[in-house]
Amino acid sequence: MQQQLQALQSSLDGELHFGSLMRHLYATDASVYRELPLAVVLPKHEEDIRKIIHFAREHGLSIIPRAAGTSLAGQCVGDGIVVDISKYLNRILEVNAEEGWVRVQPGVVRDELNVMLKGHGLFFGPNTSTANRAMIGGMVGNNSCGTTSIVYGSTRDHVLELKTILSDGSDATFHALGPEALQQKLQGDTLESQVYRQLYEALSRPEQQQAIRENYPKASIHRRNTGYAVDVLLEGQPFRPEGEAFNLCKLLSGSEGTLAFTTEIKLHVDPLPKPKDVVVCAHFNSIDESMEAVLVAMSFHPDACELMDKILMDLTKQNIEQRKNRFLWKAIPPPS
Ligand SMILES: Cc1cc2nc3c(=O)[nH]c(=O)nc-3n(C[C@H](O)[C@H](O)[C@H](O)COP(=O)(O)OP(=O)(O)OC[C@H]3O[C@@H](n4cnc5c(N)ncnc54)[C@H](O)[C@@H]3O)c2cc1C
Repeated sequence: MQQQLQALQSSLDGELHFGSLMRHLYATDASVYRELPLAVVLPKHEEDIRKIIHFAREHGLSIIPRAAGTSLAGQCVGDGIVVDISKYLNRILEVNAEEGWVRVQPGVVRDELNVMLKGHGLFFGPNTSTANRAMIGGMVGNNSCGTTSIVYGSTRDHVLELKTILSDGSDATFHALGPEALQQKLQGDTLESQVYRQLYEALSRPEQQQAIRENYPKASIHRRNTGYAVDVLLEGQPFRPEGEAFNLCKLLSGSEGTLAFTTEIKLHVDPLPKPKDVVVCAHFNSIDESMEAVLVAMSFHPDACELMDKILMDLTKQNIEQRKNRFLWKAIPPPS
C-alpha cells in the first residue's frame, strides 16, 4: 500500500501523510476512541478530494472527513484515510445580506464566521460549547446546536444548500426542490438520481412510513441527532403537501460524513440579536431540581438556557482565565 499511497501523494496539490507521527496525531478526536488511520490527507481543493475518493473506492478503504475534530463519539476516528479540511478549505465565499445567506467552505470556524457577519448586522445562530474552533462542515456533520437552540434551532434548520462529492467521484448539489424539479431528479441515471429514486421509493411505502413514525423519537424533541433524519424528510413534501419542499440537506445534516463529502455550504443567517440585558443565574442543590426549573424558565421565553454542573464549577478553581468568574457560584442573597 505504501507505493500506491506515494503515487496518490504525488498526484495531489495538498498534503498526504502516512508517517507514524501524523497517523498517531490523527488517531484520536475529542472522544475516548483511538484508531490509527492508514493515512492523513489535507486536500487543497475539490479535485484533491475527488482523487482521494477514487483511490479509496479502488482499494476498498473508508474515508473519514474531519473538520476541527471535536466530535465526542469517535466520528473522526477510523482505520481508513482521514481527510482534514481545516487547513486549506476554510474560506468564506459569498455573503448575501439582503437575502440572509452566506456561502462557505466546510473549514470555516463558526465564531470566525460570526465575526465577519457582524459587519453585515448578521449572525449564524446555532452554537456549540466548542464554537471558537468547531467548523461549519463539522457542525453540519453533527447537526450541532447549543444554548441558542431554543430560538435558532440546530444547524440542519439553516442549511440551504450543500455542494458535495459522492462515492463515485461525481458532483451533486443538494437544495430544496419543488415538485417538478424533484420529478426531474428522479429520472436521471447518475448516482445522484439513483439516490433520489431509492429514497423516494423507500419513503413512499406506507409500511416504511409507519415504521419511521412509530420508532423515531418524538418530533417535539428538536435537539437530537439520532441516526439519519428520514423522519424529517417525511414531514416535508411530497409526503406532506403542507410541509417544506423536499431537501436532502435535511438528511445530510447529521449524517456524520457517511453519505457524501461536503465541499461548500450555503447557510441561512439571522439578523444580529439585541444585546442581552438580563441574565439569571439560579442555584440548585441537585440536577433534578435544576431540570424541573427549566420548565419554569422556558415559560419566560429565554434566548438561551445552560446548565453548569458542580464538576464544571469546581474546575474553574484551577483555571486562571475562569477563576475571576467564579462569583457566579457564590450564593447571592435574595433582595430584602
Ligand atoms: C467540550 C465539548 C463540548 C461540546 N459541546 C457541544 C454542544 O454544546 N453542542 C453540540 O452540538 N456539540 C458539542 N460538542 C461536540 C462538537 O464540538 C460539535 O458537534 C462541533 O460542532 C463539531 O465540529 P467539528 O468542526 O469539530 O467537527 P468534527 O468533529 O471534525 O466533525 C463532525 C462530523 O462531521 C463530519 N464532517 C466534517 N467535515 C465534513 C465534510 N467536509 N464533509 C462531510 N462530513 C464532514 C465528520 O466526519 C464528523 O462525522 C462538544 C464537544 C466538546 C469536546
